[in-house]
Amino acid sequence: MLLVEEQGDPAALTEIARKLLAAVSELRKIDGHELNVTLSIGICTYPADGRDSRALLAGADIAMYRAKDRGRNRFCFYSAELQSHTPETLALEAGLRHGLERGEFRVYYQPKIDMRTGSITGVEALLRWQHPEKGLLLPEKFIQLAEETGLIIPIGLWTLREVCERSKAWKDAGLPRMPIAVNLSASQFREEQLVPQLAEILKSTGTDSDILELEITESMVMRDPDEAVKLMRNLRAMGVRLTIDDFGTGYSSLGYLKLFPINNLKVDRSFVRDLPHSRDDVAITRAVIAMAHSLEMNVIAEGVELREQLDVLRKEGCDEFQGYLCRPPLAEEDLIRFIRDGGTRGTLN
Ligand code: C2E
Ligand code: MG
Ligand code: MG
Repeated sequence: MLLVEEQGDPAALTEIARKLLAAVSELRKIDGHELNVTLSIGICTYPADGRDSRALLAGADIAMYRAKDRGRNRFCFYSAELQSHTPETLALEAGLRHGLERGEFRVYYQPKIDMRTGSITGVEALLRWQHPEKGLLLPEKFIQLAEETGLIIPIGLWTLREVCERSKAWKDAGLPRMPIAVNLSASQFREEQLVPQLAEILKSTGTDSDILELEITESMVMRDPDEAVKLMRNLRAMGVRLTIDDFGTGYSSLGYLKLFPINNLKVDRSFVRDLPHSRDDVAITRAVIAMAHSLEMNVIAEGVELREQLDVLRKEGCDEFQGYLCRPPLAEEDLIRFIRDGGTRGTLN
């Protein structure tokens, strides 16, 4: 972290960033080892981009991730990010703010199926935005913007509360006990208030904590693995279960993976897609399943669309799956019908 005082001029900050990049790129040899060191710099200025340290750090962080996304070894200004937003994005951002107040968000639920028995083991909650003009929007249309604007925090809390309330309602309606997985965003995972806020939501909705599963990604935990391990232990101590989502797309250190108190590992859709024809993907899937099992994690495959994909995954010992082969994410009433009708009724065995 670098604090540059009394220097808000973008040209001067650009100059400093350039010097840092150049200085680091010269670190070629350390202790005789050839190294290739690069920086990704996110720049946030006071007061234009934020008025307190929290806002400034969050802005710098967003800008840094943008620099990484653009290929690393570069810098990005937070403010330039927002300025580059098109009028459409700005309108969407305003809509996002109001959407929460107006109750426009919806949670859809995708069933997770046990590979052996074909019975439903739980659901994943997936957020939708019922936009007044654009119709039902998928997360790809708004999650990133919610993340950039910080709105993901209140939206994420709304989702957690909604899911807990629905879970309670299902229990009262006599439905079988059903764990619900909720995706966490990177900023929620970094937010210090996560554990107390979650505890409050569980308590005020009267939800058993083991009903709730949180899905996090490798990049979220690998950003600061030691901190992440502490947070994950705190969450586990509350009774909440944890899943690593999109596994295989990030850069997990295997050394750390064994320290993570994770219950489930989700094999990313990109490895499932070309099964069974891609020999590489069969090999990767096999290795991931073996590794997860030896670390005593349950393995879930996501994005299963074809019977033949299911067959390979089952043969390789995968525990559960999700995908269009069974059901897409469903509105609550459709999910309830699916459960009441007996799930897949063994048709996928
Ligand atoms: P994810 O958590 O990896 O969710 C799986 C995505 O795969 C979902 O997309 C789901 O609809 C889709 N999917 C399920 N089965 C299949 C299949 O058989 N084939 C294909 N091609 N796709 C399938 P969705 O709902 O659009 O969500 C996309 C991403 O948005 C999620 O990826 C998750 O990262 C994020 N997201 C969703 N809900 C939330 C939320 O409440 N909070 C946060 N922070 N992120 C969320
Ligand atoms: Mg997920
Ligand atoms: Mg996923």
